[in-house]
Amino acid sequence: MNIQDKVRPNILNLSPYSSARDEFEGNGEVFLDANENPYETGLNRYPDPYQRQLKQQIASLKKVDPNRIFLGNGSDEAIDLVMRIFCEPGTDNIVISDPTYGMYAVSAAINSITVKKVALSKDFSFMANEMLKEVDTNTKLIFICSPNNPSGNALNAYEVAKVIENFDGIVVIDEAYIDFSMQASFTLQLEKYKNLIILQTFSKAWGLAGLRLGMAFSSAEIIKLMNKVKPPYNINILTQKEALSALADKEKVKEAISNILRERDMLITKLSGLSIVSHIFPSDSNFLLVRFNSSQAIFKYLMEKGIIVRDRSKVTHGENCLRITVGTPEENINLVQALKEYQP
Ligand SMILES: *Cc1c(COP(=O)(O)O)cnc(C)c1O
Repeated sequence: MNIQDKVRPNILNLSPYSSARDEFEGNGEVFLDANENPYETGLNRYPDPYQRQLKQQIASLKKVDPNRIFLGNGSDEAIDLVMRIFCEPGTDNIVISDPTYGMYAVSAAINSITVKKVALSKDFSFMANEMLKEVDTNTKLIFICSPNNPSGNALNAYEVAKVIENFDGIVVIDEAYIDFSMQASFTLQLEKYKNLIILQTFSKAWGLAGLRLGMAFSSAEIIKLMNKVKPPYNINILTQKEALSALADKEKVKEAISNILRERDMLITKLSGLSIVSHIFPSDSNFLLVRFNSSQAIFKYLMEKGIIVRDRSKVTHGENCLRITVGTPEENINLVQALKEYQP
């Protein structure tokens, strides 16, 4: 596959904005090139537009070359950029599963890109052929979320690979929840697949949702295109510094993940003993999709108790389902206790 053929002509022909720090390479001591205020505030200088130091650390953690990494203001920035690079507004379309993460459809709508939805099975499993059937000549992107939000399950890796291998376009795999899953990340297969973009984030396992830092991993060629289209200084200095200090303490993240997984198992055990719970969907993430006998009443009841969960009863195959994020041990006990005390 020739990636350049898949790119919108205006993006291919774009001369990107060239910042002062882009044009300078070497070791300067006196910086009079960017109209910054020279007096030290800790933030008076522009950040590194390519976040080199941060990418070095992420590269060694993920075993991916730094020039295969893009960093965005949340994964949401990467989702939007990918659409703008590959999809012609008003003409092109993307294929996504249903249900899945809501941002793909919103970002597509903002960019006037048609969305083709393919229903997952009732157990939220995924068949490559169902998705590939929807592809037409204007389909530029397929989004696959695994583990999937809001169902929580990791999709069958063999089926995912089948989509990548049989689609003549770009496949985006959103791995926001991969750190909670037993399944291997597709980052290990980047060398094999030129048409693959993998999204991960600091918002979930890393406990840094407020930081707004998302990662995309792909071929150097696609990363170059993303760099070309992004706002020059899209990751601010504070975010780069905080992410570096989080990366310096990987044990802390590992511990949080193992606590969350242990609590997830505890919640499954406790919730499955309740008569108001009719099904708990298998989870490879930090949340559970739980079917109740009457989700609306439970949702309202929990809200009155100050416990906020996500109503997913209106999504495809989500009848009577609430999505519950795994909390701290104390929060989880409160949730279970409240549900035990529920009187219809
Ligand atoms: C939470 C989540 C993200 C994270 O988005 P950020 O913009 O990085 O916070 C991405 N994808 C999915 C499926 C999510 O659930």
